[in-house]
Amino acid sequence: MTAKPNILVIGTGGTIAGQGKAAVNTSAYLCSVLGIDEILDTLPQASALANLRSEQLLQTGSENFNNEHLLAIGKRVAEVLAQQDVDGVVITHGTDTIEETAYFLHLTLKSAKPVVVVGSMRPPSAMSSDASLNLYDAIAVAAHPSSHGIGTLVVANSEIHTARDVVKSNSFKLDAFRSPYGALGWVIEGVPHYYRRPARAHTLDTPWFPERLSRLPKVEIVYGYGSLETVAVEAIAANAHGLIFAGTGNGNIASHLLKPLRDAARHGVNVVRASRTGNGIVLRNGAQPDDEYGWLTVDDQIPQKARLLLMLALTQDADTNALQAVFTRY
Ligand code: ASP
Repeated sequence: MTAKPNILVIGTGGTIAGQGKAAVNTSAYLCSVLGIDEILDTLPQASALANLRSEQLLQTGSENFNNEHLLAIGKRVAEVLAQQDVDGVVITHGTDTIEETAYFLHLTLKSAKPVVVVGSMRPPSAMSSDASLNLYDAIAVAAHPSSHGIGTLVVANSEIHTARDVVKSNSFKLDAFRSPYGALGWVIEGVPHYYRRPARAHTLDTPWFPERLSRLPKVEIVYGYGSLETVAVEAIAANAHGLIFAGTGNGNIASHLLKPLRDAARHGVNVVRASRTGNGIVLRNGAQPDDEYGWLTVDDQIPQKARLLLMLALTQDADTNALQAVFTRY
């Protein structure tokens, strides 16, 4: 019999640590109430999959997570992955921004060991809660050799998603997580089944290390619409190193906003055209002459993940061409 892997489960809060007054409270409940040990105590079945250790790193809803939280999680996970007696890590997390933390880890960790970020849409106290099964599945995925070397994963609703692609796309249903190209695989009765691998560079093939980052540059997101006022864009651009403009459709920008965005680029702000559709490619020099304006485009990345990628890219010296290449590589 082979030895069970050692998995560290790191708690950060969220609905998976939440508690409602009654079982019918699937959407109205207190978040981030249960400690990670209390959660694991209700899941004795998981000890058949792995030797489990746990630690409470944070205890807050993921809507509160800022750049400092990302760095704190990244540094701690990097530290524990370097330990020989840790074979994989599971992070319990709120679902609201799970895709952002997971993508940040996917872009920065320097290890082939599995890292799985997991949350739930219903608290453990609710009817048909997904909390126990999602956590059990996440531990099963982290413990399995087939999860090595494919970057950070998000497990939810029996699906295994790559952190690069997954997005929360529903506010209350169990089936809330989508990857535009589909999940990497499924997990059933404690065994992951993979059908595809991530095509873009991650973890060991990136130049970023959480432990080498002391802070992240300020990159903002602006959601585009026809009545958005010029002064709002100017005010945001005035304090930013980068600005992701979530335009309509193929990264379209209302004509009165071209000037403030061109001025921002002239003043050294890295302006990136993205799409508020949440899906598809923003074609460079398509809807706007990006070369002429000195702007960047996101390729297919959603605004909130483009923000993370640009922050990391800006931690290194890079001209516009090099920054654009980052969006097509990761
Ligand atoms: N507000 C919660 C969070 O993201 C929601 C959840 O966990 O599902 O932390």
